[in-house]
Amino acid sequence: MVEVIVGGGVVGLSVAWRLARAGRPVTVVDPDPAGGASHAAAGMLAPVSEVTYTEEPLLRLGLASLRRWPAFAAELAADAGLPEGAHGVDLRAEGTLDVAFGADDLAALDELAAFMDKLGLPVERLTGRECRRLEPMLAPSVRGGLLAAGDAWVDPRRVTAALLTALERRHVPLVRARVTGLLREDDPEGPAAGLLREGGPAGRVTGVRLEGGAELAATTVVLAAGAWSAALAGVPVRPVKGQILRLRSPQPLLTRCVRGSVHGSPVYLVPRGDGELVVGATQEELGFDTRVTAGGLYELLRDARELVPGVTELELADVVAGLRPGTPDNVPIVGPAGDGLVLATGHHRGGVLLAPLTAALVAGEAGGEEGGLAALCSPARFGEIA
Ligand SMILES: Cc1cc2nc3c(=O)[nH]c(=O)nc-3n(C[C@H](O)[C@H](O)[C@H](O)COP(=O)(O)OP(=O)(O)OC[C@H]3O[C@@H](n4cnc5c(N)ncnc54)[C@H](O)[C@@H]3O)c2cc1C
Repeated sequence: MVEVIVGGGVVGLSVAWRLARAGRPVTVVDPDPAGGASHAAAGMLAPVSEVTYTEEPLLRLGLASLRRWPAFAAELAADAGLPEGAHGVDLRAEGTLDVAFGADDLAALDELAAFMDKLGLPVERLTGRECRRLEPMLAPSVRGGLLAAGDAWVDPRRVTAALLTALERRHVPLVRARVTGLLREDDPEGPAAGLLREGGPAGRVTGVRLEGGAELAATTVVLAAGAWSAALAGVPVRPVKGQILRLRSPQPLLTRCVRGSVHGSPVYLVPRGDGELVVGATQEELGFDTRVTAGGLYELLRDARELVPGVTELELADVVAGLRPGTPDNVPIVGPAGDGLVLATGHHRGGVLLAPLTAALVAGEAGGEEGGLAALCSPARFGEIA
């Protein structure tokens, strides 16, 4: 029997690939692989520049996963037969520059720099002139910045394409169907309504039911259905909409990720090796709404132009809205949740960053200090799950 991975986004595919590499029989089930949030994501691997005052557990997970990225990308490229090695997934590590305009922004950057210093994170405070020396296309009104030189980024669309190729080369079956429920030992009539059941543990998970009624038996089911996970098990995961756009430039406008806050709203720009410039992203609590709106795009372009005026000259290549799988504490939910079920969901703003660590935790490849991080994202923190 096989391990069934429900969901073929960056998380599910990474888990499937690491399990397959370890010689374990796996099957991936997804009606539209690589089409969820992973298709929208900018691909920043930026645990340092994204740190917030209340999210230290997430920082520890992010730093551990970032350390895994170079080897993960190199092994993936080799497995997928990409001749350019890790460059094939556009892994770049020139850092993130967080810029400020007004006195308030500068004060906030100073505070953030002090906080990062306390955490031992390597950041450098720069003047406006130093920022423009690094990135000449920045607006003259930029008055200062914070450089997180260790941050990196990757092209998530190339990553998921490489994962699909690597899985195909390892003959891992991909079932293009929607899972409608989990099969449980004590529930032969249908899938259990939820994991977080009252009145005792749920029965052992024995497989999945597919749209149309077919069943797929499994030794273990790994639930990696992103924002849709709560429909299959009672996990506290909700969709957080993000609109994002891609511009095309004859030559790269920036050499590193640039982010800033314009009129109180955050915006970032991520340059790709092929001249593409990603501008993101909105954060909206609108359920499963994936409409791209004029207002969302207007705000992104307006704010991006404040940072880098030259963006308005670029060709518009792509606009999309994705659904981040949010959790109450912004930390993913990864680990066993009762007999026969493993959760790998709730990666919210950081699923691309956290994919290598998540895959290692699920595949049992994380030991020592890293293994200790498992407790931070354990499903058990949301109550008894069995
Ligand atoms: C605009 C935007 C920008 C982002 N930028 C970044 C970033 O810079 N860095 C970063 O690390 N993260 C970023 N993220 C977050 C990141 O995209 C997510 O955390 C990550 O993609 C989650 O991956 P996933 O595989 O869990 O979910 P998804 O990629 O959403 O994949 C879930 C998969 O499950 C499948 N599925 C759903 N229901 C079922 C079912 N019933 N049966 C079978 N399959 C099912 C779907 O078809 C889908 O393919 C961003 C997200 C957005 C929206």
